[in-house]
Amino acid sequence: EHVQEKIDYVYKVVVIGDSAVGKTQLLSRFTKNEFCFDSKSTIGVEFQTRTVTINNKVIKAQIWDTAGQERYRAVTSAYYRGALGAMLVYDITKRPTFDHVAKWVEELRAHADNSIVIMLIGNKADLVYQRAVPTEDAVEFAEDQGLYFSETSALSGDNVDTAFLRLLEEINGVI
Ligand code: GDP
Ligand code: MG
Repeated sequence: EHVQEKIDYVYKVVVIGDSAVGKTQLLSRFTKNEFCFDSKSTIGVEFQTRTVTINNKVIKAQIWDTAGQERYRAVTSAYYRGALGAMLVYDITKRPTFDHVAKWVEELRAHADNSIVIMLIGNKADLVYQRAVPTEDAVEFAEDQGLYFSETSALSGDNVDTAFLRLLEEINGVI
């Protein structure tokens, strides 16, 4: 029998970063524990949700996905409106996607709330032999910019829950 849960808070989280870094797959791993091998670039759904309990509060994470606008640097300010957290994703096998992270931070500083909690994510950590971004480079950048950081694999699921839950806990701490 389904028991209606009482939701204490809804946290909007946006997922951003270059095209093809694995944003949509990270979101589907966290919300449905799924990975889709033949995913198309657009899924046509604005956000997915997952409800978690943090500090005895029932929190509905409402996680927004782009519909491919990042390809044209056309993510609108409406996308960022009301966001309490951001997952800023790059691909550890594609150096340019890491080099563009600074641009995405600027984008967040320009369009999102000042208090937004940002988690830098190096995704595709399962592709160890194709690594192009050393972990230390990302750690240094994250410390410099005041971001949280984790490496994940949406494919294996490694660290995905941990990273999202960490972000939600940090949001819970600033509210
Ligand atoms: P998006 O454009 O950032 O939303 O990227 P997608 O989620 O559509 O993923 C882009 C491509 O990377 C797809 O072919 C995925 O199957 C693949 N991919 C996503 N995450 C991972 C991962 O953790 N490991 C590996 N090996 N491939 C991944
Ligand atoms: Mg996508």
